This record gives sequence, structure tokens and C-alpha cells, in this order.
Amino acid sequence: MTQSLPGRRPLREGPSTEDRRLPDVVIGAGPYGLSIAAHLRAAGLAVRVFGEVMGSWRHAMATGMFLKSTPNAVDLSVPEPGGRLADFLRVHGEPRLTELTPIPCDVFVRYGQWFQKRYVGEVEPARVAAVERAESGAGCTVRLDDGQEFAARAVVVATGLNGLAHIPEELRRLVPDGPGVHAPVSHTSQHVDLSRYAGRCVAVVGGGQSALESASLLHEAGARTQVLVREADLLWGATPEPARAWPYRLVRPTSPLGAGWILAGVCGAPGGVRRLPPAARLLLFRRALRPSGGWWLRDRVEGVVPVRTSCRVVGAETAGSIVRLDLAGPGGARESVTADHVLAATGYRLDLGAVPFLSPDVRGALRLVRGSKAPHLSASFESTVPGLYFAGSLSAPMFGPMMRFVAGAEFAATRIAHHLARRTAPR
Ligand SMILES: Cc1cc2nc3c(=O)[nH]c(=O)nc-3n(C[C@H](O)[C@H](O)[C@H](O)COP(=O)(O)OP(=O)(O)OC[C@H]3O[C@@H](n4cnc5c(N)ncnc54)[C@H](O)[C@@H]3O)c2cc1C
Repeated sequence: MTQSLPGRRPLREGPSTEDRRLPDVVIGAGPYGLSIAAHLRAAGLAVRVFGEVMGSWRHAMATGMFLKSTPNAVDLSVPEPGGRLADFLRVHGEPRLTELTPIPCDVFVRYGQWFQKRYVGEVEPARVAAVERAESGAGCTVRLDDGQEFAARAVVVATGLNGLAHIPEELRRLVPDGPGVHAPVSHTSQHVDLSRYAGRCVAVVGGGQSALESASLLHEAGARTQVLVREADLLWGATPEPARAWPYRLVRPTSPLGAGWILAGVCGAPGGVRRLPPAARLLLFRRALRPSGGWWLRDRVEGVVPVRTSCRVVGAETAGSIVRLDLAGPGGARESVTADHVLAATGYRLDLGAVPFLSPDVRGALRLVRGSKAPHLSASFESTVPGLYFAGSLSAPMFGPMMRFVAGAEFAATRIAHHLARRTAPR
């Protein structure tokens, strides 16, 4: 199959047997899915890609949000020069971004869409409804939501955090029909337009970037907002100082996830992280990055939006349209607050059980990382179901925290494409 894509040379001809080969399938068209697909197509493999291009960045993030990452940490990956964020900006005559320029989400979405047209080609918007093990034992059977079913040589799951949003039980109990923007409780991933709460009282639960940025957007839109944080203090990222002298950089080396030796280590050698004992890996996964706000957000929150620290939500109830939250503070002190709406900025749980399209048969055959519900993966991101790969956040308990971020896409795409291309070679 030869595809001409706008603005670049045709993708490489595949081997003559290609039409007879089963396709490799990439589920997801976010930064990971697009990077993996770009590598597979550049290797001449037959690939079908499913999902909405940059869908999470368009529908699971509120208007007005910025990336927390710096421009050098959000490049998608393709095995040829020209596909970086800086290239996209240059081609479109847009201003260069520096370490000190927060990237608007909509710029990142346009970058992803440009990358897809240039390096990936066709992405099918259908949703994958089921992935089952093939009866032959090799590869998988994929079923789409329109009922179409086909055999795949390999399936790469790159569906990000979709389906993994976490709301603590105390809040979840208030919404038996599920959280939502019109219900008493919602999750940050359900919002595109926070200005719907203008004039209303909103309690934001959580102390990470999502909580703090949502709180500032709510406040700026005219909502009476307060933030409830478990930790004793808010943590803020340090303002990037790219021009620091080398002795400083020796003490605190930089990495896509921030400065310091641990972060530099986990970003420099994700394959090395995988070889650590499981307990050390999990510790890294849970502790290497604590929830924090981006440096550029600090002025929009501190002294502007009321923040209550050292308080845990231990109970909640509704009275009419009002939600009352019971909070436990230091030494067991109790108090309560009321709000019209509670926004749970309580993150995500990596749980294969919540990935809706994996059949019971596949789930049963997946070995999990000890102490987690994420898949155990080979050095090539392959799970214990032959031909089934996982990339992005679900691979972070194996390869470290970089896989929770766009910065891990190059490593994952390179490894997976290399593995699948090698499997093709003898044909
Ligand atoms: C508020 C917020 C801010 C963030 N900011 C940053 C940041 O600044 N820097 C950073 O590096 N990371 C950030 N992240 C993390 C970010 O989500 C990941 O880095 C990145 O999006 C992961 O890419 P992905 O390709 O794995 O998944 P996603 O970008 O989530 O893409 C998932 C894809 O899967 C598709 N899909 C899902 N289910 C199906 C299905 N059943 N069938 C077909 N397709 C399906 C979707 O349509 C979509 O195309 C942020 C996350 C959040 C929630």
C-alpha cells in the first residue's frame, strides 16, 4: 500500500506480500498512538489506526488550559527529521516557544493534527469495541463499534487515560448514575467549558495541576471556588532556568519531567527502570513525581483562589441542590463545607479492568505488575498475550513515570516498531 500524504514524500513501499499480511492495529490517535503509527508506517508495515486524532486533548481538557510540560518535552516521534513541535510552528509561521512559554492546549492539538496528516495518514474514527485472542493463537481479533470484525497480527493499545478517571468512594456515592457536569459531582476529564459554573459555588478536590488549573479557570470565569487539598502544602514547579551554568546542571541535571538526578535517570533509561525489582519500580512510579502545579500557574492561584490544605474528604451528602462535604483535618479535627458542585480533580487509576474493550479471555491471560493492575510488559512493550502491546500511562509501572507523559512516546514507538518490523522481516 502506498499512500501520498500532503507535503511530503510517499510512504515507503511495503514488501510485495503486504496485501496478504494481517494488519497491525494501533488503538488510539493521541501522542502515543500517532508516534507509534508513524514509526510502523515508516517501516513499511500495514497499519490500521483507530481513534479520534488528539481526542483527549480536545474533549477531556477544559478550554483555556495550557500544557504543564515545556516545549522540549512534547515532541511526537517519527524516524526522520521535521516532525517536532518547533517544526510545526516554523512551517506555520507561528512564534517560537521557549522554556518560559506555556503551550496552549489548542496549539498542541493543531500540532498533533498536522503530524497525523504528514506522517500517519488515515486514522479511522471508529471505536474499538472488543479485542479478543485469535482462535489460531497468533494475534488478535478486533471488533469495531459498527460491528466490523477482523484479524490483526498485533494490537497496540494506546488509549491513554480513557476510562481510568478516579473519583473517591465518598464522592462517588453521591452520584449513583455516574458523575457529570450536571450532576452534583464531576471529574475534571468531563469538562471542556468550566464557565458553565459562573456565579455558582464549586469545591475542587485535589492538589495537582488539574485541580489548580481548573480552580483558576473557574475563578476567572466568575465561579466562587475553593480548593480542598490533602497535603499540608501546595507544590509548585520551579521556573525553568535554561541558562544555568554547568556546575548547577551537574548537581541538578535537567530532564523532560524536571530537574534532578532521579528524574534524569528515569527519563534517560526507561529500559533500565524496567529491570529494577518490582518494589523499586512501583516506588518510583508512585513517588518520583508528586502532584504539583506548573510554575506559570502560581500567580493565578496563590492569594487569588481560597485553598484549604491538610484536609481530607471523609463524607459527603446532598441536601437539595447543595453538596455538603465533611472534612478531616490535622489531629482529626472535623469541619464541613458546602458547594453547588464538586469537581473531583482526583486523577486516574491504572486498572486493566477498566479498559472496556479487552475480552475476559484477554484479561485472564494478562500478567499484572506486582502490586498494581497494570500489565507486565516485555522490553518491547508486549504483554503476556502474544501480539498485544500497551503504550502510554498503562506502561508506566514497567518503564517509569516518563510513560505518563508525551516525552515517553519516542522510546515506546521506537521499541514497538523495531519489534514488529523484526517479526515481519523473514516473510
Ligand atoms: C489535564 C491534563 C493535562 C496534561 N498535561 C500534560 C502535559 O503538559 N504534558 C504531558 O506530557 N502530558 C500531559 N498529560 C498527560 C497526557 O494525557 C499524556 O501525556 C498524553 O495525552 C498521552 O497520550 P496517549 O496517546 O497515551 O493518550 P491520549 O492522548 O489520551 O489519546 C487516547 C486516544 O485513544 C483513543 N481511544 C480511546 N478509546 C478508544 C477506543 N475504544 N477505540 C478507539 N480509540 C480509542 C482516543 O480517541 C484518543 O485518540 C496531561 C493529562 C491531563 C489529563
